[in-house]
Amino acid sequence: MTSLEISKHGGGLALEYGHVKLGLDSGLNNETTLLSHAHADHLSGIARAYRIVATKGTLETLYARGYKVGGKVTTIDIGDSVGQLGVEVTALNAGHVLGSTMFLIEFDDDLKLLYTGDFNAVDSLVHKAAKAVQADVLVSEATYGTPEWVFPDRKEIYREILLKASEIMDNGKIPVFQAYSLGKAQEAIALLHSGGINVVTGNQKIDDVCKVYKKHGIDLRHISLREKEASEMIETGCAIVCSAPRYMVRNLQTEFGHSYTAKLESRFSFFSLSGWTLGETGKRGFPLSAHTDFPGLIEFARQVNPRLVYCFTSNAAQFSVHLTDEGFTAVPLE
Ligand SMILES: [Zn+2]
Repeated sequence: MTSLEISKHGGGLALEYGHVKLGLDSGLNNETTLLSHAHADHLSGIARAYRIVATKGTLETLYARGYKVGGKVTTIDIGDSVGQLGVEVTALNAGHVLGSTMFLIEFDDDLKLLYTGDFNAVDSLVHKAAKAVQADVLVSEATYGTPEWVFPDRKEIYREILLKASEIMDNGKIPVFQAYSLGKAQEAIALLHSGGINVVTGNQKIDDVCKVYKKHGIDLRHISLREKEASEMIETGCAIVCSAPRYMVRNLQTEFGHSYTAKLESRFSFFSLSGWTLGETGKRGFPLSAHTDFPGLIEFARQVNPRLVYCFTSNAAQFSVHLTDEGFTAVPLE
């Protein structure tokens, strides 16, 4: 019987089954790497890959953020498959960021393995939820893989963000929402615009990624700090979406001078948009996550109905224990 080996490799994983070797977000030397999305923690070593398989959305956001890939590139659409000797790989939507992909890997002997990458099983304003498919082996992220991570309904989080933004603007201040430049920033822009709030973006990286989202048909309305309408918008009332506050302040100083920037800074109210702010809603931030929460991870595993689960990312060990309690055979990749 052929044995399956999965191990950590660089920032991702290496998979070996019979003569098939694949890198999963890892740039395995001289082999094909399946690249799930363009967040930096999934890109280490990809320059070493012989071939990268990724969606257009992943590749374009990766290039927009200044990364390069070495070797050959095969683009794959969500729902499509590519093959190489002994294996066929199908790309499935992961719901995490633009282009994000889960990979269903089907070997010649019919063994099916699902690699989730980072995934979100809940719809957002700009990304569709990941849907489970049946597989014999599930390789699941476990970022929020302990029971305290139960996110409120996304619509409720949206409502609270919009209420807070309006309240701060009504007091003559400027709400500043800090969010990852890929994924969360675009969701924040779409949300604030949907609530009738003008949005100024504070970092070039967000603007570069927004261009790719727009190319893929996602309606994002915002003004960059560098555009001439920005100062008027800041004066008449707006929210700011930024990914790196320190650089945003530097950009403001370049555009508007130090003394005006200092005045603006005194009007800023910062909020982080991240699952990690759960329990501090409206204070430090809002628990808007691009990942699946604990009940969602367990439910997803149930729907995949695998014989074996491998868990990766932080909380892998704890999530494996919880999966075992739920009747799964689960192993952390550490
Ligand atoms: Zn990610």
